[in-house]
Amino acid sequence: MKKIRVLLIGAAGRMGKTIVDLASRESNIEIVAQCDLGDAIEPAMKNCDVAIDFSHADAIEEICRAALQDRQSLVIGTTGHSPAQREAIEKAGQSVPIVFASNFSIGVNALFALTHSAAEILRDEFDVEIIETHHRMKKDAPSGTAKTLAEILKKARKIDNEIPTRSIREGDVVGEHTVVFAGPGERMELTHRASSREIFARGALRAAEWIVDKPPGLYSMQDVLGL
Ligand code: NAD
Repeated sequence: MKKIRVLLIGAAGRMGKTIVDLASRESNIEIVAQCDLGDAIEPAMKNCDVAIDFSHADAIEEICRAALQDRQSLVIGTTGHSPAQREAIEKAGQSVPIVFASNFSIGVNALFALTHSAAEILRDEFDVEIIETHHRMKKDAPSGTAKTLAEILKKARKIDNEIPTRSIREGDVVGEHTVVFAGPGERMELTHRASSREIFARGALRAAEWIVDKPPGLYSMQDVLGL
């Protein structure tokens, strides 16, 4: 079977190293090029089937430009993009296939689906809140996953108000997200705890395999998982 050739952007970071390690144990994926801060992305993108980005939001314009030039597929795991940067991703998605996901873990994608159902069942008499905890080195807050959870709650409740979100940065926590539904006389909490970065790396490699033969479009991890 032909291996899928991957360009990894943000290769020297926590997620980048986890992906390199996991890919070395996978038979169907090969990391053929690695970029980090200061490396030119465009030339590296020429000889791959798909580029995986776990770097910094500020890299996205260069990544999109290179992908459009070479008609390459993208898997974007970086979070913390500005509205203009998100727009660049949406525009690129009109011409090349892109998986853009704030969280590549299967458990968190189940949390997304359960949050939607719970919000529909519990309705407005329950106050909602999101609490997210990450390691102290995480650069963006709230997390991309917390923002996705807020969007899901707003959509399920058909409201525009912001969802109260608490961001805690401490220690070496890989990632924890809780959605609280607090009603009269009862309280429900949905919590996901990540204890290893490998869950995100595994999901990103699965997304990379899935996206290579797809038509142009902006896809989510829910699409990859068929949820
Ligand atoms: P990190 O800071 O450990 O690593 C980021 C790497 O990107 C660093 O090596 C840095 O030098 C490099 N980098 C910075 N700017 C760059 C640029 N312009 N071009 C190329 N490389 C650049 O961070 P991390 O913990 O590995 O996380 C990386 C990103 O992935 C963050 O945005 C984080 O929120 C996100 N993340 C997403 C998921 C998910 O499932 N979607 C999971 C974990 C982390």
